[in-house]
Amino acid sequence: MVNPSSICSFALALPVYHRFDYQVDAAFNPQPGMRFVLPFGSGHRVGVLIAVGVSAELEENKLKPVTSLLDESPLLPAHLLELALWVADYYCQPVGEVVFQFLPGVLRKAHSAPETRQQFWRLTRTPDDEELQRIGRRAPRQLVIIQALLNSEHGLHGADLRELQTDWHQPIKSLQSKGLVSSELKPLLAESATPQIPGYTLTADQHSICQSIAPLLDEFLVHLIQGVTGSGKTEIYLTLMQQVIARGRQVIYLVPEIGLTPQLLQRLQSRLGQAVVTSHSGLTDFNRYQSWDQFRSGVVPVICGTRSALFSASEALGLIIIDEEHDASYRQQDGVRYHARDVAIKRAQMLNIPVVLGSATPSAESLHNIHKSHFRLYRLDQRVSLAQPPAIELLDCSQLPLTSGCSTRLLQAVDRHLSEQGQVLLFLNRRGFAPMVMCHECGWQSGCHQCDARLTLHQSINRLICHHCGFSMPLPQKCPDCGAADIKHYGVGTEQLEQFLQSRFAQAEVIRIDRDTVSSMQHFETRMEPVNAGRPCILIGTQMLAKGHDYPHITLVGILDADQALYSSFYRASERLIQTVIQVSGRAGRAGKKGQALLQTAFPSHPLMQGLCQQSYSELMEPILQERKLLGFPPYARVVTFQVDALELALALQKLKQLKQFVQEVSDGLTVKVIGPIPALMTRRIGRYRAQLSVMASDFQALRQLLQRLMPRLQSLKNTQKSRLTIEVDPLDL
Ligand SMILES: [Zn+2]
Ligand SMILES: [Zn+2]
Repeated sequence: MVNPSSICSFALALPVYHRFDYQVDAAFNPQPGMRFVLPFGSGHRVGVLIAVGVSAELEENKLKPVTSLLDESPLLPAHLLELALWVADYYCQPVGEVVFQFLPGVLRKAHSAPETRQQFWRLTRTPDDEELQRIGRRAPRQLVIIQALLNSEHGLHGADLRELQTDWHQPIKSLQSKGLVSSELKPLLAESATPQIPGYTLTADQHSICQSIAPLLDEFLVHLIQGVTGSGKTEIYLTLMQQVIARGRQVIYLVPEIGLTPQLLQRLQSRLGQAVVTSHSGLTDFNRYQSWDQFRSGVVPVICGTRSALFSASEALGLIIIDEEHDASYRQQDGVRYHARDVAIKRAQMLNIPVVLGSATPSAESLHNIHKSHFRLYRLDQRVSLAQPPAIELLDCSQLPLTSGCSTRLLQAVDRHLSEQGQVLLFLNRRGFAPMVMCHECGWQSGCHQCDARLTLHQSINRLICHHCGFSMPLPQKCPDCGAADIKHYGVGTEQLEQFLQSRFAQAEVIRIDRDTVSSMQHFETRMEPVNAGRPCILIGTQMLAKGHDYPHITLVGILDADQALYSSFYRASERLIQTVIQVSGRAGRAGKKGQALLQTAFPSHPLMQGLCQQSYSELMEPILQERKLLGFPPYARVVTFQVDALELALALQKLKQLKQFVQEVSDGLTVKVIGPIPALMTRRIGRYRAQLSVMASDFQALRQLLQRLMPRLQSLKNTQKSRLTIEVDPLDL
């Protein structure tokens, strides 16, 4: 007799929208969330079981049986699997790719889950002096180990023993066979800095926010803390974390990509008195898995990480915190397209737990949710140090020549602050030496042959580099078109600014922070050493520095190229500019020192520039929200964008025309607006042509219905090497 079996649906990491059915022997005790090895084509693939069907005899013969089982129990708890299916459905992403995104990298391969605990050795009893002397005579190396074990509190692991003696395996083995030493597996945790440091007392404002949220920790609610830079939102997070941990629950704490510094981790561990694990792209696959595993097994109560840490498995999740919720890094722009903030809210809703968002500059979406009473707002308008964030002063540079991007008045201010032992931060969101190289004779420009973009000059390596595809070439000596030697560069990037400031302020340290100088968090910390030490210096930074770090010694902030946003076609450009200016200028004057913030502009009478000097963030955002409402743009409408990239533009447009036809066929009775197909803003990128079609609706349900009717038809638009379709629901750009 054959074992009874059932038909189970699996998610495979493939760019297709359907699930795959296989026959699973009941002896496997199949449960959703388990991984199996499945026969696929001529080889094998890993699949995550999504649903166990009824045992059906009829179908039995048609379906292939699974090859083997990888996990004894489900890796993903039921709610997380349900969340993955929701993400796939809501964002119209291939279900298998989404489910695999929820797993750490090492579990996406056909191996059983590796052991993350480490072997520890300890003494089974304390040997007496006579025994010690005997061992010392016959096996001095064993004696060394025994003495070290006697002095250790919890036992020693491999690395400790290796420090004692390189060849430690044999003596340990002998001691084990004597029954003097035993070993066990224990999780290896980061040192949680000794007992909790109680030192900090909340300010009255912080205290009252904690008091308001504390009684609501057992229900789903989105709390948004809008606190000016330096107002101490982290202290509120810490207090809430402590309360959640005290109830035996766990916390996921998300920070923007560059926000996760060793200082933050230290602060979390010492204040909570607990080990905290991290998850971010700088870790190895194994270390990431280790964090995931230790959080999942409940060994640590907090995981702190970037976007994808949201998918950490937990059976006792009690709170999700998202710091700097407006930050664009929470939106994944490649692979599976999702927004971590919005998925976090869904997860919290499913579990009936709270979400705490924090920002000095909440996103337009979140402000809209406050207006609609979907989120609860708390304000922190005072800095902990009681000093006000500096008012922004405009530096009119419409009539003035700039030297490497700096006006004379800005340079004078830098001089003054340095002489008063202050630190200076200059914000320029453009890396490289110069964004453009041109021939004076014939007008040749350094364009990328794969993208509709200019190559940026990087003088230190004497090359032209495309910031979109990475193509690079040596800086030509002569014009490639006419042969003239008169090649000039235009515009200013951080590299040029650094060079200029180094010669202008020879006595000061100049530190440049951008993707070319900083490749990892470790690297970042090393470069920031003079800044953290409080020495007078000039810090040059791109967007990387606009995130919520604390630099208490900065007294002057200068913003060099804000004007770009005034003529950008990106509809969020003004929102971004306001957020960046407020975030960056908020870095000045933290530790009781008075700060100054200067904004260079050639358009000082522009209403937005005027507003930045005179209005609060909420006041600045009001007309922007009004305008979005008038135009029917997000957050007052929901958008889905279909983008095709193809070998030829005509092919991309043709595919989207077909898609538009489908949209028209299924939009009966639904009020939606279709824009396009049009070539994308940067039409050619990495050698492929891109076009897009957007569908907007003020009623989100209408858009959902449209997508539900549309998705089955999209199966006919096969993705090939020649043309690929990607769908973005709630894209950041249009
Ligand atoms: Zn030329
Ligand atoms: Zn390129």
